[in-house]
Amino acid sequence: MICPVCKEDTIVVEYNNIELDYCNDCRGVWFDSAELELLLQSMSLDSQNLLLGDILKSSEAMTQEKKRKCPICGQKMKKATIGEHPGVLVDACPQGHGLWFDGGEVAQLLKHLTGKQPAGQDSQQQVISFLGEVFKAPE
Ligand SMILES: [Zn+2]
Ligand SMILES: [Zn+2]
Repeated sequence: MICPVCKEDTIVVEYNNIELDYCNDCRGVWFDSAELELLLQSMSLDSQNLLLGDILKSSEAMTQEKKRKCPICGQKMKKATIGEHPGVLVDACPQGHGLWFDGGEVAQLLKHLTGKQPAGQDSQQQVISFLGEVFKAPE
């Protein structure tokens, strides 16, 4: 796949049968529509408001960030915010192909989600440490 931000080839990162496309340059990551759901399920996290359909129904985020094109179909993606205080800005394909997170946004999202969860579930800790490795916020 080609990164929608820097137009470089992405690499495939696999974890528990979930395949993500990750860009080594900008540290952005692409989730196919089903993959985000799978990931959240594997962490026993509530995926409410994180399903692509819900994101596409939410209002367009106000941002100066440039519109990006879906790496699958080439259509301009919608800017949407997940969560609050602060929300995580993502790009969502209007055709439902998936979601793009900029470098550091996945870590932000996980922090947001896991902040509400009781700590100590093994499967959750594993996924978080895996993602923490892969999706370190840029320094
Ligand atoms: Zn990139
Ligand atoms: Zn698309």
